[in-house]
Amino acid sequence: MATIGFIGLGNMGAPMAANLLKAQHKITGYDAVSSPLSNLELQGGKGAASAAEAAMAGDVVVTMLPAGPQVRQVYLSPDGIIAKAKKGALLIDCSTIDVETARLVAEEAKKAGFDMLDAPVSGGVMGAQAASLTFMVGGSEAAFKKGRPILANMGRTIVHAGPSGNGQIAKICNNMILACSMIAVCEGFSLAEKLGLSAQTLFDICSTSTSQCWAMTNYCPMPGPVPAAPSNRGYTAGFTAANMLKDLRLSQQAAGTAAAVTPMGAAAANLYQLFVDGGKGGLDFSAIMQMVRRSGISS
Ligand code: NAD
Repeated sequence: MATIGFIGLGNMGAPMAANLLKAQHKITGYDAVSSPLSNLELQGGKGAASAAEAAMAGDVVVTMLPAGPQVRQVYLSPDGIIAKAKKGALLIDCSTIDVETARLVAEEAKKAGFDMLDAPVSGGVMGAQAASLTFMVGGSEAAFKKGRPILANMGRTIVHAGPSGNGQIAKICNNMILACSMIAVCEGFSLAEKLGLSAQTLFDICSTSTSQCWAMTNYCPMPGPVPAAPSNRGYTAGFTAANMLKDLRLSQQAAGTAAAVTPMGAAAANLYQLFVDGGKGGLDFSAIMQMVRRSGISS
C-alpha cells in the first residue's frame, strides 16, 4: 500500500483515483473545483485544501490535469509539487501535454531530487473506469520500475517509451494517426453512401480488407455497423472532438519544432478546428462524420 497525492480529479482523474483506492492505497486528492473532493471522500479518500497539501501527503504524487499550462503551474509554482512534495517522492504526470513542458518539468523535478514520469494514457473514460488504460511512459528506467506497480492499478498495458517526454511523443503520434484514419474512414463511408453502396456492405468488405483499422472496426463513425460505437448514440463522447483538436495542435506544434513534415496531420487539425468552431467540440471525435457527410469540409 502506498500513500498517494492525486491532483486533478476530473473525468479521467476521478475514476483513476477510485481504482487506486480499490487497490487499498491511501489517497489524498485535490482539484480546483470542490465537487470531486466530496466524491473521493465518499469512496474512502481524503480531500485536501490545496495542491501543496495533497503533494505533501504522498510517497507518490499523480497528476491528471487539462494541459501544459496547468501542469507548469501545479508543479513549478512556489507552493507547487516540486516545492512541497516529500523528499524522495515519485512524481507521475498522466495529463496529455506538450513535449517541451513535460521535459522542462521533469528537469526541474530532477534538479530538486525527484524522479518523475510522464505517463499519458489511451483508453478514455471507460478505460479509466475499468482500469484498462494504456500508459505510455517517459522517464528513467529506475523511475519506471518504481511507478509501474502504481500504474498497474489503473491500467492494463504499461509501456516504457524512453526518457522524459517520450510518453507524450507516443501519445500525440498515436492520436495524430487516429485522427487521420478516422477522417479517412468517414470519407470512405460517405463516398460509398453517395454512390449507392450500403454502410453495412462496405463495412463487411473493408473490415476484412486492407483498409481495416481501429477507427472502422471498433468505432465506426457511420451509424449501423458497430452497435457500441458513439455513432449509434448520437455521437455522445467518448473522446471529444475538442480533446482531439487539442492533441492535434500538440502534434503540429511538435512537428514544427522538429521540422517534421505531417501534411495529413495538418489537414486533420484544420478539419477538427472547423468542426469545433461549428460548435461541435463536445461531441465524440467520430462525429466529424456529420461534417464529411454533408460535404461541409470546404466551407
Ligand atoms: P477534465 O477537464 O475532466 O479534468 C481535469 C481536472 O483538472 C478538472 O477537474 C479541473 O478542475 C482540474 N484542474 C484544472 N486546473 C487545476 C489546478 N490548477 N489544480 C488542480 N486541479 C485543476 O479533463 P479529463 O478529461 O479528465 O482529461 C485530463 C487529461 O487527460 C487531459 O490532458 C486530457 O487530454 C487527457 N485525456 C483525456 C481523455 C478523455 O477521454 N477524457 C483520454 C485520454 C487522455
